[in-house]
Amino acid sequence: MDEKKKLCMFCGKDESFGAMNVEHFVPRALWDSKRPQDTQTVPAHVACNSSFSSDNDYFRDIVALDEGAAFHPEVQKLMAGKIDRKFQKKPGAMRISLKDLGPIPKHSKGGIYLGHAPAFTVDTVRVERVLRNIMKGVFYSVREEPLPADFQFSFADVTHETPEAIREVIDMLPPEWVGFGDDVFLCRYAIHPKYRGIMAALLQFYRNRTFFGLATPSDLNSLKNETDAGQPQPANS
Ligand SMILES: [Zn+2]
Repeated sequence: MDEKKKLCMFCGKDESFGAMNVEHFVPRALWDSKRPQDTQTVPAHVACNSSFSSDNDYFRDIVALDEGAAFHPEVQKLMAGKIDRKFQKKPGAMRISLKDLGPIPKHSKGGIYLGHAPAFTVDTVRVERVLRNIMKGVFYSVREEPLPADFQFSFADVTHETPEAIREVIDMLPPEWVGFGDDVFLCRYAIHPKYRGIMAALLQFYRNRTFFGLATPSDLNSLKNETDAGQPQPANS
């Protein structure tokens, strides 16, 4: 069997576009000390990976400083360690991460709402970038190929939704959570076996902040064409 050409989980290109490495797709920033060894790895360009490092730090601050995450053991370690050191070294960093403190709920295009507690304006573009990369990593680790480049993502913060309100989503996804290291990151996902890998996922951080993500082709007509082309149908579709 031919070995599959290694492609970058972020940009989908091969090593002729830059040096590649094997990267953990769950951000290292989420842990104070060592990231557990069992987090899955996927191929990625070194440059692509490092370009997201400040987004990952920012995202970590947002989900770790959330009221509901305060009792998570890894968050407590972060507050006494990495986050504490960061804000002592650069007091301005606190203001950058938690800019515009105030009760200003912020909605992103995809519907993310991050205005509950603590109330501050969140850069949803950066938050969505991190979530998108994690979904790409999960997809790659399952399918051993990058998520198609034309896919678009939408995210919603479902942390404060009741199970009834997101029942449809829950029912769509397999019941198991795939966990990484002491429940720092938990995920439930489903990838459609046909429709080019349409993917839905629940992503949870520190057993608290939870996002629902959906990845679909930007041109939904491409799905219709695929069906028209007479691809095999799943038995009970
Ligand atoms: Zn790349």
